[in-house]
Amino acid sequence: VRDRTRVTRLRQKVREDRAELDALLDATRIGHFGIADADRGPVVIPTAIVRDGDRVLAHGSTGSRWMRQLAAGAPTCLAVTALDGLVIARSAFESSMHYRSAVLFGVCETLGGDEAGHALELITERLLPGRAGEIRASTDREIRATLVLALPIDEWSLKVSDGGPDDPPEDVAGDAWAGSVPLVTSFGPPVPAPDLRPGIALPPSVQRLGSPS
Ligand SMILES: Cc1cc2nc3c(=O)[nH]c(=O)nc-3n(C[C@H](O)[C@H](O)[C@H](O)COP(=O)(O)OP(=O)(O)OC[C@H]3O[C@@H](n4cnc5c(N)ncnc54)[C@H](O)[C@@H]3O)c2cc1C
Repeated sequence: VRDRTRVTRLRQKVREDRAELDALLDATRIGHFGIADADRGPVVIPTAIVRDGDRVLAHGSTGSRWMRQLAAGAPTCLAVTALDGLVIARSAFESSMHYRSAVLFGVCETLGGDEAGHALELITERLLPGRAGEIRASTDREIRATLVLALPIDEWSLKVSDGGPDDPPEDVAGDAWAGSVPLVTSFGPPVPAPDLRPGIALPPSVQRLGSPS
């Protein structure tokens, strides 16, 4: 762990286990890439992310400004956050959140050719498992119009907040309720596209979204 990944406050929440970082990256569909833009100042852009072994993939249009900056070698910082619940203490001061959050630093590599094609398939597959096998393959033109970036998982920090409220004894002795409430997110019923032809059944990949894994 290098200096810029050294957490300053609440260091007891710091985790150095790569498996825990991978679990967060695999469970989270979006991340925020930061760039120190020389002309415009700092910019932070949300985007879909997918872990591929020792790197994080992102993809977008070859016309995208921020992606082109990353492709050109702009150093970046990627923040990935999962909100897991609320911690309700006996005072506002001690109340907090259950979370997992990672901050990664590095320079992205641009993937090309077959590697870009495979990465795009992996992105489709991870974001909606089973979908890649249900739809046509991407055309060469579509792949060429897409920029695929890979950020190495090399320099990173991870904080996990999963404890109970940490109230002082005088508050514990009082009458206020304390505890935590997990945040559960789930997909709702699928909404067919307005132009969906009648008689097309819900594909298994979409059916599975609604069922607990
Ligand atoms: C959940 C989520 C998932 C996404 N997934 C992808 C993805 O996989 N691939 C992809 O290419 N894009 C994705 N986007 C969109 C992405 O955030 C950018 O908007 C997009 O990449 C186009 O960027 P650009 O080149 O136009 O932005 P730039 O030209 O680099 O940005 C110029 C300015 O536009 C504004 N801006 C750009 N994007 C946003 C935004 N999302 N919200 C508010 N202001 C913005 C900012 O002010 C920025 O300074 C996702 C967004 C969200 C919220």
